[in-house]
Amino acid sequence: MPDSSHAPIPRATISERLRSHGISPTHQRIEIANALFSRCEHQSADQILATVNVHHSETSKATVYNTLKLFLDRGLVREVIVDPSKVFYDPNTAPHHHFYNLVSGELTDIPADALQVAGMPALPEGMLEESIDVIVRIRPQA
Ligand SMILES: [Zn+2]
Repeated sequence: MPDSSHAPIPRATISERLRSHGISPTHQRIEIANALFSRCEHQSADQILATVNVHHSETSKATVYNTLKLFLDRGLVREVIVDPSKVFYDPNTAPHHHFYNLVSGELTDIPADALQVAGMPALPEGMLEESIDVIVRIRPQA
């Protein structure tokens, strides 16, 4: 389905964003980044593949997976693993948490400052806290 709700991001802006993360902006990487960033949503690799292939049906699933892995390694996107069969790619890399709707499958943001974790146990010796990601699983009231 064409997405008309977001203004397209200029290619030059996407290229610049890739370069600033040490990624050389090839045609396919730009297409995949465009699919991610033009809609500020959480998408699965398959959704991203479908978006890219609306215009560029030559892009393979392996290319999309490998490119997303590269984007992850370079900190361009963040991965939200709801369960091993439900992995979302999040263009918002700032700290935040998520609601996951078990019925609709929708993932929505919770601002970082809206949730505090109380009673954190002492960290194992020699360890630093890197991050805390909370997924609150929700369902409609019966
Ligand atoms: Zn998010």
